Amino acid sequence: MSVLIIADHDLGKLSPATARIVHAVAELGPIDVLVVGENAQNVASDAAQLAGVQKVLVAETASTTDTDLAIIETLAQSYRYVVQSAGSVGRDRMPALAARLDLMPVTDIIEILGPNRFVRPIYAGNALQTITDNQPRHILTVRASAFRAAATGNAATIETVESPTASVARLIATHRTESDTPDLSTAQIVVGGGIALGSAENFQLIERLAKKLNAAIGATRAAVDAGYAPNDWQVGQTGKIIAPDLYIAIGISGALQHLAGIQGAKKIVAINSDPEAPLVKLADAALIGDLFEIIPQLIDELDKAGVR
Ligand SMILES: Cc1cc2nc3c(=O)[nH]c(=O)nc-3n(C[C@H](O)[C@H](O)[C@H](O)COP(=O)(O)OP(=O)(O)OC[C@H]3O[C@@H](n4cnc5c(N)ncnc54)[C@H](O)[C@@H]3O)c2cc1C
Repeated sequence: MSVLIIADHDLGKLSPATARIVHAVAELGPIDVLVVGENAQNVASDAAQLAGVQKVLVAETASTTDTDLAIIETLAQSYRYVVQSAGSVGRDRMPALAARLDLMPVTDIIEILGPNRFVRPIYAGNALQTITDNQPRHILTVRASAFRAAATGNAATIETVESPTASVARLIATHRTESDTPDLSTAQIVVGGGIALGSAENFQLIERLAKKLNAAIGATRAAVDAGYAPNDWQVGQTGKIIAPDLYIAIGISGALQHLAGIQGAKKIVAINSDPEAPLVKLADAALIGDLFEIIPQLIDELDKAGVR
């Protein structure tokens, strides 16, 4: 009995999250990866390169929830573990799969202690829970940002899996946000902005700095609710969980719900006018002052240093 990882992918590209899940579950057994959905064929060769993968299964479908789930459910019978990243698709799909198989899913795992012992954060990251899962099979979602990516250079075999043709649902259209910045959940550098930016126009300062640093853009819920930043930039308890090497938090107080999303950040730099702000106290380094003076200066200095 081995591990089946459901690959995350979009627009014919494998998400970096999948490489992290492969590394996370390496100790649990031989790993197969299932690429299911539209453009699955294009993604399979990337998945086959991940170290530790023995086989990539490809099921090309029109990617509706019921067709994808039907394939996963059929394949799941042959595996002890079925795992996907705890991103928006995995959070939706894995509990539905578990219900179909009459199993309890274990979600949002940040550490694997043994074949059936898993650690997950609860209470917005304020406590860690260790779960012993005594079920015969395990349906898991894993927080990708908590793990390193598997190496590449492998050449796993690729097999096609038959896809069901009948579906009660039909995909009509997909509306997506275009972005040329790195993926927030797996970016190495994130520049985050808060309500202090004051407007969507001013928020472009954050975007300019992020572009210079090849960083992803994050925002607080206050900034999102005010309409300064789109919803998918929100970081925190009800947003994305990030674990970059560097998080630059600009005009962000550090409310508990925001901190719940940045606990994995290795270094935090806060830019804030209030030296007593919780995020300033938590940060590895802080610049105290007006962000509207500091950020343009920072961008100028990066320009002078030849960072484009
Ligand atoms: C159920 C629930 C879920 C939530 N989920 C989330 C979540 O997922 N993510 C999230 O972020 N929040 C979340 N929140 C909201 C959270 O409680 C805070 O309200 C929010 O994070 C505050 O955002 P902020 O730091 O932008 O604003 P504020 O707390 O108002 O902080 C603004 C900061 O900017 C500084 N500042 C002001 N002007 C300047 C300037 N000119 N230069 C430099 N610094 C300046 C201030 O000193 C202050 O520290 C949630 C709340 C609830 C109740």
